[in-house]
Amino acid sequence: MERMKDKVVIVTGGARGIGRGISKVFAKDGAKVLVVVRSEDAAKKVVEEIKEIGGEASYFLGDVSSQEDMENMAKTCIERYGRIDVLCHNAGIFPEVRLKDMTVEDWDHVNDVNLKGTFLAVKACMENMMENKYGRIVITSSITGNKTGNPGLAHYAATKGGVNGFIKTAAIELAQYNITVNGVEPGNIMTEGMDSQLGEEYIKAQEASIPMGKLGKPEDIAYAALFLASDEAKYITGQTIAVDGGQTLPESMFAVN
Ligand code: NAP
Repeated sequence: MERMKDKVVIVTGGARGIGRGISKVFAKDGAKVLVVVRSEDAAKKVVEEIKEIGGEASYFLGDVSSQEDMENMAKTCIERYGRIDVLCHNAGIFPEVRLKDMTVEDWDHVNDVNLKGTFLAVKACMENMMENKYGRIVITSSITGNKTGNPGLAHYAATKGGVNGFIKTAAIELAQYNITVNGVEPGNIMTEGMDSQLGEEYIKAQEASIPMGKLGKPEDIAYAALFLASDEAKYITGQTIAVDGGQTLPESMFAVN
């Protein structure tokens, strides 16, 4: 199926981990993808990978916590591809630090990228979507902060709870323009960021608490995002889907096989 045929899709944080999965799955499904990250090497690599499988993609280097960068991202997309149909806002960080050691700088940094970044990316893209009376916005949220808590991630959890609140109100405001706003809440997905920011011990502990017995893959999140961005999902807005291998279901460790 080519649900994304000729659709113009921006994927923030689209060169590594979950975002790379989203970029590739959308491109395979026919989308023209603008990959948005800060590091050029990773961006070039994912664009090459997409071209190798016959897809269309290019990149824009920008920081989601910069209003100027987000405005230039939207402008570049419109200049290059004519419009913005879908925004997959996925860029996010999860540096682990317990509250007793957390500084105001730690707090502000995570908020700037994860929460302010969400506002800035949506704000930059929505004007074109409103003019076109068409848009799909899919935000990568998290089970953390919405269904669970996690030591060392209080700042992160607060931003992802905030993201879900943002989704609900943005969905109401943008519904009249035929723009839907939804989110995917990943459980624990094996990505470069998971490996470098949280580490092996964390990963093992998570595996033990997942009924499906393993971490998810970036593609697992990408397919949920693809559905929410498709025309089949045109009447779904303001919702979030947990994609977590059942991790948020058990009442205790005894409920996991
Ligand atoms: P990752 O492997 O670290 O990749 C993050 C991507 O975002 C990279 O491409 C990175 O590229 C980009 N990025 C980071 N900060 C940015 C910024 N300020 N501006 C623009 N791009 C930025 O992370 P991931 O595990 O795939 O996570 C992706 C999203 O899923 C995040 O929102 C995260 O909170 C969410 N999530 C992940 C998991 C999980 O288990 N992995 C679980 C729940 C939620 P550059 O560094 O080059 O900019």
